Amino acid sequence: MPTTKKRILVITTGGTIAMKYEKDTGVVPCNELMEFLKSFSQLSEVADIDVYEFSNIPSPHMTPEMMFNLAKYLDDIIESSNGDTQSLQISDYDGAVITHGTDTLEETAFLLDLVLTTRKPVVLTAAMRSGNDIGLDGPRNIIGAVRVAAHANSIDKGVLVVMNDEIHTARDVLKADTGRVNSFESPGYGAIGYVDTDDVIYHRQILVRENVWTDKINSNVDLIKATSGIDDRYIRSSIENGAAGIVIEAFGKGNLPPNMIPSIQKAISLNIVVVVVSRVNTGRVLPEYGYLGGGKDLENYGVILGGDLKGPKARIKLMCLLGKYDDVDKIKKFF
Ligand code: ASP
Repeated sequence: MPTTKKRILVITTGGTIAMKYEKDTGVVPCNELMEFLKSFSQLSEVADIDVYEFSNIPSPHMTPEMMFNLAKYLDDIIESSNGDTQSLQISDYDGAVITHGTDTLEETAFLLDLVLTTRKPVVLTAAMRSGNDIGLDGPRNIIGAVRVAAHANSIDKGVLVVMNDEIHTARDVLKADTGRVNSFESPGYGAIGYVDTDDVIYHRQILVRENVWTDKINSNVDLIKATSGIDDRYIRSSIENGAAGIVIEAFGKGNLPPNMIPSIQKAISLNIVVVVVSRVNTGRVLPEYGYLGGGKDLENYGVILGGDLKGPKARIKLMCLLGKYDDVDKIKKFF
């Protein structure tokens, strides 16, 4: 039986995948990705493609607000049956691919994963090498991402990230190397599948999925990393600057030095939500150690232990939760 081609929307946001090296300027954004995508004949063999430029920025310039706007745009566009957004004639897309800079890709992917309501595939991809570098990874990553977005087995898997022929979940993936094309990893868990020459192969079910369906986010959340001998100056600064939430990347299973404790207690007394995760690569934080500043001690003060999420993702999650709830107990249930 002949299969009909899927219709995929490719949304560009910027990043190295949309940059070129120039002798005088270094690697900087250029305007060629859109044209390239429209004339990329191998792409049209995989799916019917429309391309929409959301932004053309380096991903260090991406903000949580922009990520959330991207989510709203996606939910409207993918699920609308006759929407006409931004002059594109949209009938019904089967999925979307988002090109992004690698530096903050994991944060955008996770925010979308939390707030999107669509069950259709949404796949982020990027490039470690700019448009005129030798051994370009961008075009291959885009084709891989479109093939994943067009694949029947990609439905209902949440937001996925395709890099270097591997498929990762938004929740677990992170940029693990500053330069290599195999930079993206899901530490402790691994990729859930890969893009092969003839097919998209999934090897694992996704058992951990989280959603925070919210109309707005509260991006007023700080992230503080614990280091030996650290005192409370950053927590005091967060309090003084009116933070709504503070995420602390603590040691080991979620333990902190004594000097931080009084200010953490003060923050909690001021209704600032304090979430502790670990600065260690893999594993959860737990209320295990009862000494001053240990995870059990922190929980007694009202600190929320944030499971296995790394700091940047726990921060994104807290922004979404604070956009929806102002009740700490409700927020705690999501961690
Ligand atoms: N600095 C770039 C960015 O995130 C890195 C990349 O895209 O690979 O925009």
